[in-house]
Amino acid sequence: MDGIIFDIKRFAVHDGPGIRTTVFLKGCPLNCQWCHNPESIAPKPVYAPRTVHLNGHQFTENEQVGYTVSPNQLLAELQKEQIFMEESGGGVTFSGGEPLLQGPFLNKMLRLCQSHGMHTALDTSLFSSWKMIQKVAKATDLFLIDLKLMDDQRHQKYTGVSNQSVLENIQQLAALKKSFSIRIPIIPGVSTTPENIEASIAFLQSLQQPPASVDLLPFHNTAKAKYARFQMENPFGNQPSLKREASSEIKQQFEKAGFAVTIGA
Ligand code: SF4
Repeated sequence: MDGIIFDIKRFAVHDGPGIRTTVFLKGCPLNCQWCHNPESIAPKPVYAPRTVHLNGHQFTENEQVGYTVSPNQLLAELQKEQIFMEESGGGVTFSGGEPLLQGPFLNKMLRLCQSHGMHTALDTSLFSSWKMIQKVAKATDLFLIDLKLMDDQRHQKYTGVSNQSVLENIQQLAALKKSFSIRIPIIPGVSTTPENIEASIAFLQSLQQPPASVDLLPFHNTAKAKYARFQMENPFGNQPSLKREASSEIKQQFEKAGFAVTIGA
């Protein structure tokens, strides 16, 4: 079966260990108000005008975002950078959107990559069925899991879905002893409340296996142009980007609780 992707980022250094190629799969069942990739949410390709200037003239064309690719076509693309992956201890990261929304295609790609000697990582909200997660876990070397908000009502308000299955899936994955990191978006006044930080720490401490790291991802207002281009509502459009230092206090709280913490990406 083919998949729909909307981007391939080569030489990525924030999506897992080493130098990686990150594949962005289209479609996401969430609708986070701070999403950096709003063009990823619709499962099918979308179109948006793109203006180019050439020799003093302005041309506007309708650009397609998202295209169909077969597993073997995508594998061939990924193999172009395999030498850099191998020399740097890197690999391939599947991101999105929510890659689990295209579970069968994702599973096929993870298996193909592993069987060709590539380290595999999956950047996911874990908003999916446990059955699908179990399937892909067999061919996933590292999970990069979003932990957005602990309070279910606030999670529904800001992402559009309940966090119940997400939290259960994280618990079950930790019990499988799979390697995983937790990524927490630092959204001022939303994820940064003392209640949310304390509840996140308590939840992570309760897991059968701790995350390899807790990665704090400060809010960046870099998607403003995308929201305008795709004519989508941008609830955080006026929120300024955060400096790394703004997450220092939260970093200390997680470190005090015994976690290895990074601020980045
Ligand atoms: S889960 Fe990720 S891709 Fe999906 S809406 Fe939220 S931030 Fe965007």
